[in-house]
This record gives sequence, C-alpha cells and structure tokens, in this order.
Amino acid sequence: MYILRSNQEMARFRRERAQAGGSVGMVPTMGSFHEGHLSLMRQAVAENGTTVVSLFVNPAQFGPGEDFDRYPRDEDGDRELARSCGVDGLFVPPVGEIYPAGDSTRVCVDGLTGSLCGAFRPGHFSGVATVLVKLFHIVRPDRAYFGEKDYQQLRVVQQMVRDLCFDLEVVACPIVRDPDGLAASSRNRFLSGPERTEAQRLSRALFAARDLCGRGVWDRSALVSALAPILDSPEGGLFCLEYLELVDPETLQPVDRIEAGSSARLALAARVGKTRLIDNILLERNGL
Ligand code: AMP
Repeated sequence: MYILRSNQEMARFRRERAQAGGSVGMVPTMGSFHEGHLSLMRQAVAENGTTVVSLFVNPAQFGPGEDFDRYPRDEDGDRELARSCGVDGLFVPPVGEIYPAGDSTRVCVDGLTGSLCGAFRPGHFSGVATVLVKLFHIVRPDRAYFGEKDYQQLRVVQQMVRDLCFDLEVVACPIVRDPDGLAASSRNRFLSGPERTEAQRLSRALFAARDLCGRGVWDRSALVSALAPILDSPEGGLFCLEYLELVDPETLQPVDRIEAGSSARLALAARVGKTRLIDNILLERNGL
C-alpha cells in the first residue's frame, strides 16, 4: 500500500493506475478506523481495480467549540487496518495541501442542509462539500463510497455530484453496528462505560420505531411519543437528545405519516456527556 502525502504524489499514483486499467474506488474518511470504515474499504476493494482511502481531519467541517482538536487521530493504526483490507493507496495530505494559503472558495449545497445536523452545525455541510470537491478533483475516482450512518451527508454528496457534473458514482453503504446496537463511530472511543450504556438509547429507539411500524404505527406523532420513554433526557443527565426527525429519504423534509408504498428515514442526534452521536434507520411501508 502506498502512502501519498501531496496532491502531486496522489495525482501521479492515479495516472499510473489509470494506465494499468480498471476503475478507481475512493473512500473519504477522517481516520481512526473502525468496522464502519473497513466495510466501505472492503466493498471498494471488491468492486474496483484500485482503491484509494483519504485520511484527512477536515478543519472546515468543524465549528467553533467543536471537537476538531480532540478528534481521535491514529495514523499508524489506520495504516495497518487499511492495508489489511487490501487498499492500494492511502492519501494523507497535510492541511496546507488541501487549504493552501489564501484559499477562499467554499461550496454550498442548499435545501438539504438546513435541517437535521445542518440546523445544529452551521457551516458543517459546506465544509464537507468543499473538501470533497477538492478530494474528488485530486483523486478523480470512478466510484466514491459513503456510509448511510451519516445519512444527511450522503444525500448532500449525491446532490453535489449531480449538480456539479462529477463523472463518478456515489455508492451508499449500510450502517455497521457494534454487537450492542450502537452504530460504529470514531467518537465512540470517547465514551466511558456509563456513557456507552446511555449511548445505546439511540439504536434502541430506532429499533423500537421499526417494531412499532411492524405493528402498524406509521404516524410521526405516535412514533415520537412512543419513543419518549427511551429518549427522555432529564436535566443534568448524561444523555441529551438534540433532535428526532422523521424525514423523506430524498428531500429530508419532515414527514407526518409514512404512507402505503413509501418510506422515511428516522434520524436522531444526541449528546452523551461531551460526545455528539448520530444514527438513523430506514422505515419502509409496503403497498398495503
Ligand atoms: P468519517 O471518518 O467519520 O468521516 O467517516 C468516513 C465514512 O465512513 C463516511 O462515509 C461515513 O458515513 C462512514 N461510516 C462511519 N461510520 C459508519 C458506520 N457505522 N457504518 C457505515 N459507514 C460508516
């Protein structure tokens, strides 16, 4: 596996691989790999002649007071994990390579970014879109792999790739969960024992919603009130719900009821101690 640290090295690697033939798959990440990342890498390796993973903790997607400085970083460990998945190139640019002095261009995806996490993290998705435009130009992948765990991010990327005429396929990959149900996340390593128990409330609520749908509960208000006992956040407790929203999977607009033959995403975010966690689930109703 090659370690590529400059845009020039990355571009040269891409050119050489293109000459050898086969598609190039890319997995953009911020590192501190876990099973979620590794599932994307394995799928990219299985579906492409060459797989490039980018490892870049993107300062532009963190707001003031967010956890950019304490975001977990483990390049040595990540290198070994990427290698074990059969990744061909690990692109690890320094910040100055992606944001050179005087950099002043930002990409904004309207419409999809005002709700859910976008409402709580102003500028976050513009930071995400901006870094991905740069990474896509440098790496020029044929396919880029994203997890449904960050569902709003996935929709933003799909919209941006379409709007900006990128010649690449965005591949959506299922959420990987730990045995206790918690969605794998780099931030899970911040959780203390008691916090981890509290964090399980996110997936418990989503699974409960899926069970309720199985029993014919399709109204947003009925679902939300049935989940309240799981998500209740007493003042001063470790767990604090930020949002719980039932949204259209395409537009991310709120949905009042899942109609026959349609589906919705139930998405939520919570703070557990100092750590912010997100999760979501697809709720599908058949045509009856
Ligand atoms: P990150 O390093 O957190 O920016 O994540 C890099 C990629 O891994 C994104 O496309 C995420 O959606 C994806 N990802 C993170 N956690 C999971 C998970 N638990 N299951 C599937 N994909 C994930």
